[in-house]
Amino acid sequence: MVVRISPNYFSWWAANQRYDIEREPPAFLFLGNQLWLDFLNTRIKQSGEWVDLLGGFADLMRWLEEAGALDGAHAREALRRWPDLREREALCEQARSFRETLRAAAGSVTRGEAASGEAVEAINGVLRHHRRRLELTRDGDKLIRRYVGEVTEPLHLLAPVAESAARALSGEDLALTRKCENPACVLHFHDTTKNHARRWCSMETCGNRSKAAAHYKRVHGGPGERGEQA
Ligand SMILES: [Zn+2]
Repeated sequence: MVVRISPNYFSWWAANQRYDIEREPPAFLFLGNQLWLDFLNTRIKQSGEWVDLLGGFADLMRWLEEAGALDGAHAREALRRWPDLREREALCEQARSFRETLRAAAGSVTRGEAASGEAVEAINGVLRHHRRRLELTRDGDKLIRRYVGEVTEPLHLLAPVAESAARALSGEDLALTRKCENPACVLHFHDTTKNHARRWCSMETCGNRSKAAAHYKRVHGGPGERGEQA
């Protein structure tokens, strides 16, 4: 039996070998309650240094899939459709740049200001490429939302993120968009708690750190804030 391997396979392998062999895939954080905020949270700060969890195209595909913005079949189709490494890197750069525009918009919102015209234009620019639709599907005994539809242009991939930002920025509960109160933490979330008192990205990390710092201050009377994110 002759096994034919398409030339695209080698491009795919070249693009994914670093991902498969040299490092563990990063664990993404889904604590933002909104897709656009979870997208912002793919760039985090650890010990004062920025860390990008979207290291490459494969990471972006995996994030979209884990976030429910792309189903597995379309993720595989996208990997086949864009085997060219330069094209993949160009898309990643577009995604990262869009992410920083959204970060600026989130910054405006958390300061009580309106998002800039530049942010609105960037979101509209991606929405113009929206060719995909929401569908309900079963996951075990619960129903989940998935975006379905053909992905024929790279920007189709980011359209669900742009849609989430558009809904949030025009929504009535926009004021519940928050940045974690740890000054060293850059994570954002939409506060869905009943009394709107969520202050931290996570109680296990920043919340506990703050409690420990307050306790240290009470006991020792000095500054206890170390200003690092776990
Ligand atoms: Zn935090």
